[in-house]
Amino acid sequence: IFDEYTIKSLIRPVPDFPKPGVTFRDITPLYHSPRAMRMVADSLIQRYVESPVTHIGAIDARGFLLGAVLAYELNKPLVLLRKAGKLPADTLRESYATEYSETTLEMHRDALSGGEQVLLLDDLIATGGTFLAAARVVRQCGANVYEAAAIIDLPDLGGSRSMQDAGIPTFTLCAFA
Ligand code: IMP
Repeated sequence: IFDEYTIKSLIRPVPDFPKPGVTFRDITPLYHSPRAMRMVADSLIQRYVESPVTHIGAIDARGFLLGAVLAYELNKPLVLLRKAGKLPADTLRESYATEYSETTLEMHRDALSGGEQVLLLDDLIATGGTFLAAARVVRQCGANVYEAAAIIDLPDLGGSRSMQDAGIPTFTLCAFA
């Protein structure tokens, strides 16, 4: 049974990281708890097991951790959206500004061919820039973003709102306002 209080209690606020004034939401205590991680994984599996999702799009780096579990359990192909310079073959790319810096996401050009229903996964939505860039990469291939899912939303940063405005349905397991 999903217990939001348990999940939220295992997300550690770290003040002034990575810079003064920013409170970083550290999910490593959640990963340290098999019970809580099972709740997270089971909630996502339950949500998508009977959905039209055809591919799991996992975002570098903490999205990979959820992505691998979901791809395994749903028995779907796992597509990696990586930070620039990591993927060796021909890539598609999109750049974006994060809370902290400018970043580029890449995906192998042959990962999708068009018409797929992709579930994007990451740990957290802040400004939404990362998910929006990932969605642009997926859409470059003619594939559709079925939904973008994360453990945490920071709604005050407006990311989930911007994503909805861009036609990307979002799903998160908890929020810190
Ligand atoms: P966005 O692109 O601004 O939505 O930022 C989300 C991305 O930055 C995700 O890949 C997160 O892993 C990372 N991120 C931003 N803020 C935090 C935080 O407070 N805790 C953990 N990750 C964060």
